[in-house]
Amino acid sequence: MVVMKFGGTSVKNPEAIRRVTGIILSRKNQTPVVVVSAMSGITNYLISLFQGEIPANEGILKLKELHRITADDLGICDNKWEESLSKAIETLRLNLTDKKDKSTELYDSIVSIGEYLSANMIAANLRKNGVSSVMTDARNLIATNSTFSNAAPDFEKSAENIQKNLIPVLKNGYIPVLQGFVGADKNGNTTTLGRGGSDYSATIIGSLINAEKVEIWSDVHGVLTADPSVVPQAKSIKHMSFSEASELAYFGAKVLHPATLLPAIEKDIPVEVLNSIHPEQEGTIISGSPHSEAGLVKSIAYKEDVTVITVTSTRMLMAYGFMAEIFNIFKKYKTPVDLVTTSEVSVSITVDCTDNIKKIKNDLEKFARVNIEKSKAIVCIVGDTLKSDHAIMGKIFGLLDDVPIHMVSQGSSEINISFVVDNCDIKKVVTTLHQYFFERNFNRKMFVHVN
Ligand code: ASP
Ligand code: MG
Repeated sequence: MVVMKFGGTSVKNPEAIRRVTGIILSRKNQTPVVVVSAMSGITNYLISLFQGEIPANEGILKLKELHRITADDLGICDNKWEESLSKAIETLRLNLTDKKDKSTELYDSIVSIGEYLSANMIAANLRKNGVSSVMTDARNLIATNSTFSNAAPDFEKSAENIQKNLIPVLKNGYIPVLQGFVGADKNGNTTTLGRGGSDYSATIIGSLINAEKVEIWSDVHGVLTADPSVVPQAKSIKHMSFSEASELAYFGAKVLHPATLLPAIEKDIPVEVLNSIHPEQEGTIISGSPHSEAGLVKSIAYKEDVTVITVTSTRMLMAYGFMAEIFNIFKKYKTPVDLVTTSEVSVSITVDCTDNIKKIKNDLEKFARVNIEKSKAIVCIVGDTLKSDHAIMGKIFGLLDDVPIHMVSQGSSEINISFVVDNCDIKKVVTTLHQYFFERNFNRKMFVHVN
């Protein structure tokens, strides 16, 4: 069995959907389970609708039009498709016009419509191409808690659901197409797994059916050595370890949702990142098996717009329990921290989410001085063999000697070096490092695809 997940850009218009259909058909004999995102831009549009930035009637009409035009172009207007379109529009209308409260519960039920429609479209297009396919509702498969908009999967319950609702579909010879990003809580309410969560859906399903492989199809050649919008020369990486790819996903590489690899690691299922525009090209294989590829650094990622909080107190000197006190405050306000560096009297912490920053500051100020700096960025250099080069830190900071560097951390896994710079220095930093590690004249063919 193979799980194939297609992102929003892979299903963005009829041409893209036809391409995706061809890719799925090419895997027909491998028992594919297809997971799809909403057509690109649709989730954002639905969020604007939820927030009232677009008038409900106008928004619903536009959404219906777009999907209808796409379906017409594909020639897939069978009864099943028509039925699902009416159902989606009806749900939207009910949620947007009848209910006035803006609960997150409502948010999930509205934003999940994009995936509902795209999954139905892909299934209909597969049927049109002569294969048995059904849209298999992810709400009957992925069980989650009730943390709306950022729900966590319940693997045990999901496993039961899959035995009941997915395996029989496969046994009957159907290609199931299900919504990424979407699940349901124990009361049957629709939940979503957080933005970009379709990747996570794919590996959750993959791990629960013991798939041979999970394929993540997007519109880039796999995982790249850097963000191509900053470094156009960025190259695709052939092979990464789970830990390298996890660090990258967490520290800003946008190809994978940060939680994606966890289920795959647990079951040791390789994840392949591929390009649906050029399906013939090799992508990036992320796996647990060792690979002896040359090269110290695999990729350079960055995460913009982080906030650095520095907590200073002489009470910290020689004291125990001080760190716990600090981190308890972040826990209290459910704010994850990314990078942490310490000195004798201060701790610097970066956070992504600043929703509760004022409250955090107030609490910290009860026992320490607090300084908050916004508009910072984390740069993260990743490579399994980084730990073997003892001079690496010197090389990196020698290259960047005119850039203010705020925090430096060599991850405890020793496969990442992260540091904080100002947002405005990102392009310079990433370009300089990429030139040094990837564009010099030595042979890196071993681990990147050289075009
Ligand atoms: N459509 C959702 C989003 O835009 C989920 C996904 O694409 O993975 O966040
Ligand atoms: Mg994505």
